[in-house]
Parts: sequence; structure tokens; C-alpha cells
Amino acid sequence: MTGNICKIIRNKNNIKDKLKVLVLNKIMISGSRMSSRAMRAVYVRKFGAVDQMKVEENVAVPKLEDKQILIKIYMSGVNPVDTYIREGDFGWSSKPYVPGIDGSGVVEAVGSEVTQFKVGDRVFCSQTVRYGTLAEFTAMDEDHVFPLADSLDFAQGAAIGIPYFTAYKALLLKGRAKKGDRVLVHGASGSVGLAAVQLAKAYGMTVVGTAGTAEGLELVSSQGADAVYNHRDSSYMDKLKKNPETKFDVILEMLSNVNLGHDLELMKPKGRTIIIGCRGPVTINPRDMMGPETEVIGCALFSSTPEEWNLIGERVAEGISSGWVKPVINKIYDLHKAGEAHHDVIHSTGAKGKLVVRVQE
Ligand code: NAP
Repeated sequence: MTGNICKIIRNKNNIKDKLKVLVLNKIMISGSRMSSRAMRAVYVRKFGAVDQMKVEENVAVPKLEDKQILIKIYMSGVNPVDTYIREGDFGWSSKPYVPGIDGSGVVEAVGSEVTQFKVGDRVFCSQTVRYGTLAEFTAMDEDHVFPLADSLDFAQGAAIGIPYFTAYKALLLKGRAKKGDRVLVHGASGSVGLAAVQLAKAYGMTVVGTAGTAEGLELVSSQGADAVYNHRDSSYMDKLKKNPETKFDVILEMLSNVNLGHDLELMKPKGRTIIIGCRGPVTINPRDMMGPETEVIGCALFSSTPEEWNLIGERVAEGISSGWVKPVINKIYDLHKAGEAHHDVIHSTGAKGKLVVRVQE
């Protein structure tokens, strides 16, 4: 039945077919384990610019599988990767789809094999594939759903997934950073950067962070960075390089295409630079790595093994309990402004934490 619905939905100009969709939605919803409500969702039917993101009504609530949890989504976190997927640049060929990888809300229904959650639990989630979080409901595998403590609100819940999981993977699994290390978070004012600053401080490291605006620098300092530099100041790199005492054990790099060549000169012997963000090619001098025997390591959250994913999930959950996970929200958009949020996350005039979309009250 799902295949028929998809074919019919594709023919969006045909009113008769639209009526059939409504009828089929009702059949599908009443045949599944959850409420008979249809939902509102943002749909992308064609890869392209933000105008491809349209709010649609009467979308079928996702059908729940045995190991899945149906979440009533309140907030959806916006990540740069959402825009790469929408533009068709991410090797994702499945259309139409609902954007949104991170989200937060309340458990609406659980599949028969779900063991850790019950209806009514507050949760956050990450890494949805078929159904996104820019929808009133999403169905998510249990191992991509995590408890959301009362200490965090739903906007903060939607800001945990990709940013904190990436920061943990980059700093501790790929970067092998440890207590006492000096860490440079190169691009610290955004979602991943702030998570990395909080994490590194919680684990007893010395943290230097960069940002591109006065407000960004202030925010990075307020999150515990020991020193901050403005990466839009043409002399900041000279200042960093001048003092050999300021070299780093680990560098987390958000814009490798701009900074990687410099990072190679900023590492201590045996240091590691972790490639988190990259928006193009860059020229480097590999010789800078030879004497100090440094490493440049790629990091992609999507490439995590299930074991890595579970470990990171456990550690981030511990971080929520112990209090170091404290997402900073920059702006909340209404659902019909989700396209604006996609625009802003790429064309930022200065990051100050996370952009989040309110899906429903
Ligand atoms: P974000 O919230 O938009 O933050 C972007 C950050 O980059 C801001 O701190 C920004 O600082 C900084 N930046 C801008 N120009 C810079 C420069 N010349 N040098 C250093 N930093 C600069 O994005 P995000 O969610 O933190 O993600 C950051 C990057 O990592 C994105 O490219 C994203 O695609 C990527 N990412 C990768 C993974 C992975 O698995 N590898 C996961 C998540 C994100 P100002 O705005 O203050 O200038």
C-alpha cells in the first residue's frame, strides 16, 4: 500500500488522486498502531534550493515497525548537512522525503520490540533516514532515540544529536584527546564547536576557540574556553603561530578548506587535526607533518559503527546527567520558516549556537 501512496502523491496536480491519498492515508493510519491523525510535515519532492521545502497537510503518520518509536516532534534541529541533502549533494537519492535529522519530543507509541521507552517519555533523536523531524511525528529506530532530562527544554533536546555526537566522536574517538591536552576548536561559535568546547572543558582540557564576531567570541568564552581568537581578524593566525607554547595536541577543524594548511603548523609533535567540516579543496604542505609526525584524520558521524554510536549515546546521556551538555539556542523558527532556517545555517553572518524549528506547540 505504501508504494501506491507514493506513486499517487507524486502526481500532485490531480485532485482525484489527492482525494485517493486522503482515503489511503486513513486506511494506512487505522491499520497501524497509532492514532488516526494525519500530520503536517515539510516535504522536499525535488532536490534544489530552499523553495523546494513546502509544508504539506494530511501527510500519513509514519507506520511503526517493531523496533521503532513513534515520536511526537516538538522541535527539529537544523544542521548544515540538511542543506547538502536537500541540494542533492549527499548521495541521497530517495525522494520525496521529510528533512530533519535531529529532533525532540514525546513518545507517542512504541513498537512491540521496544524495551527502553514508554508512551509519554520525553526524548531526543538523531539520524532518521526515511522520515524526518520536520514533521509532527517521526518513526525512529530505538537506538537512535535517547531520554531527554527535564533539565533541558525541547529546543535544547533538538540541538543535541549531530552536534554533540560529532564533537564526542571527533575529540575523544578520532582525536584521542585526554585530560590536560591543549585543544583548538577552529570554529567554536557554531553547534558542533560549542558542544566541543563544553566537552573538552568537562574532560579537563585547555581549550582555545575561534569565532568570527564579537558576540561569538563572548559566547565561546562563556562556555569555558580558556582563550579566544577571531578567525576574521587577518592577524589571528600569526598571533597563534608566534608562540610555540600555544601549539595543540588536537585541533577540531570546522572549515578545513580554509584552515588545514595553517593547522599543520599549529600542532604539537604527534598532534592530530580532525576534519569535521570542509567545503572545498585546499593546498597544504605535507612536509609540515613529517618532522613532528602529526596526523590529519577524517571524521564523519554517518560512518559510525553501531558500537561507536552506542558508546557516544551513553557518554552524551551521562553528559546530560552530569550537566556539561548544555546546548545554546540561537534562534527558533516556525515550521513554515524552515526554509529560512536552512538558508541561515549556510549563510550565517556569525554563529551563536543552534538554529531550531518549532514543529508544534
Ligand atoms: P554552524 O553551527 O553553522 O557553525 C559553523 C562554524 O564555522 C561557526 O563557528 C563559524 O564561526 C565557523 N567558521 C566560519 N568561518 C570560519 C573560519 N574561517 N575558520 C574557522 N571556523 C569558521 O555549523 P556546525 O553545525 O557547527 O557544523 C560545522 C561544520 O561541520 C559544517 O561544515 C558541517 O557541515 C560540518 N559537520 C560535519 C559533521 C561530520 O560528521 N563530519 C557533523 C556535523 C557538522 P562564525 O560564524 O563565528 O564565523
